[in-house]
Amino acid sequence: MLPLADSSTTQRGGRHYAIIGAGVAGLAAAYRLLQQGQRVTVFEKSPFVGGQLATTVVGGVPIEHYYHHTFTSDADLLMLCEELGITDKMMWLPSTMGYFSQGKLYPFGTPKSILTFRPLGIFAKIGFVLSTLWITFVMKPAYAEKHTVHAWFLRYGFGRVWDIVWKPLFQLKFAADADRISLIWLWGKLHTRGTSRNGSKEVLGYMKGSFGALALALSQAIEGLGGELVLGTELRSIKKINQDFVVESSAGTFSVDAVISTQAANQLVHSYPWSSETKAYLNGLEYKSAICVMVISDSRWFDRYWINIGDENLPFGGIVEHTNWVPAGEYGGKHVMYLSRYLDDDDSLFTQPDTAIVEMFCNGINVILTDFDRSLVQETRVFRQRNAQPVVPKGYIAPSMMTEIPDFYWISTHHTYPFDRGINYAIRLANRLVGDISAQ
Ligand SMILES: Cc1cc2nc3c(=O)[nH]c(=O)nc-3n(C[C@H](O)[C@H](O)[C@H](O)COP(=O)(O)OP(=O)(O)OC[C@H]3O[C@@H](n4cnc5c(N)ncnc54)[C@H](O)[C@@H]3O)c2cc1C
Repeated sequence: MLPLADSSTTQRGGRHYAIIGAGVAGLAAAYRLLQQGQRVTVFEKSPFVGGQLATTVVGGVPIEHYYHHTFTSDADLLMLCEELGITDKMMWLPSTMGYFSQGKLYPFGTPKSILTFRPLGIFAKIGFVLSTLWITFVMKPAYAEKHTVHAWFLRYGFGRVWDIVWKPLFQLKFAADADRISLIWLWGKLHTRGTSRNGSKEVLGYMKGSFGALALALSQAIEGLGGELVLGTELRSIKKINQDFVVESSAGTFSVDAVISTQAANQLVHSYPWSSETKAYLNGLEYKSAICVMVISDSRWFDRYWINIGDENLPFGGIVEHTNWVPAGEYGGKHVMYLSRYLDDDDSLFTQPDTAIVEMFCNGINVILTDFDRSLVQETRVFRQRNAQPVVPKGYIAPSMMTEIPDFYWISTHHTYPFDRGINYAIRLANRLVGDISAQ
């Protein structure tokens, strides 16, 4: 068994934790454990930290593979930024939204824009406003858990609102599972968004130099506290031998006192010889994968940040023109637009060559923007993320952070329930878990 590099000299006292995954959840958990005087080694299979906050470079500046923003109500994130001394990197910028429906692009997301949204007639407009206010401000989570979004909208006479506004979005986010999604998922989304408004205006948070700066600040704080980050190292298996966990990784075998995994359920299931009940439970947790095409150019394409696509025939569900929110000047004048699509793991599109995906997505843009001139596109980059979106059907029961094995803990994007996965909630989970561990 290999000793851990430097562990005897830099990390003194406390129990030794192996953390699997250097995404924001794993990094935040490592940081909190070190603050509690524990010893920590973080194993990450990628050669970089950040997980789903991975970045690429445009105009010399890092930018996420996948569009990211945060909300003014993201208290756990904001508190962590303050502790790490990076609050000055947070920018709060007004966002603008649109909706492509029935062949036309409409402004969306403000009271005035609802009035001009022609696909909904007057009664459906009233239904849209009422149902949104009801879910956001009146509905209790315990009630929302008992319904699917689809059934609830139909039951209360908001069928047209479902058909025109929500159904296309749910189909593009959850594919064949659109009708199964719990109302609590929409409750979580609207609740978070509703609390990030300033009157009729929405402001969203971004970090100067990308949210990769958060991952970097956390990793520096971890190393500053004597923690160990082992990048480019894949966990292969974990066994419990007497009181110790033996961690087999691509960099060798290590012995630790406790484990925190931040893997997706379908990865965790292979990490330990779980009981058949746990295996069945983990195998039953579902995800959607994501594809994002980043379009880089000197041109601005649309006049808003976020465009929902209410047309199942288009190959993507969202257009996020990042530089209509964060100025292109941050990227040396380059304009960045993401075309985003969620899909089943076994959808053949996921493994299509980049060129085929770009061709299909650009053809989709042509439907919305008939004069879209592809010769103005300087570069496209295709990013693929497995386990990008947990699926939360009606009757969903969130996993526990405690596994069946004492001292083996698990936090993941499935644990953020009743809220959707996100940076803030990954930090909140890490805070909670380490709080629970230290209270034991
Ligand atoms: C398209 C898209 C858009 C998003 N937009 C937003 C947004 O606007 N706002 C927001 O707040 N959130 C957004 N998110 C979600 C946010 O990025 C995630 O919730 C968050 O980054 C998850 O962090 P995590 O640490 O839980 O998981 P991850 O980032 O997935 O980290 C898990 C880590 O475990 C590692 N790992 C897995 N198996 C092993 C192994 N065997 N050995 C070693 N390492 C392993 C992985 O490599 C990974 O780095 C978005 C996500 C996507 C995909």
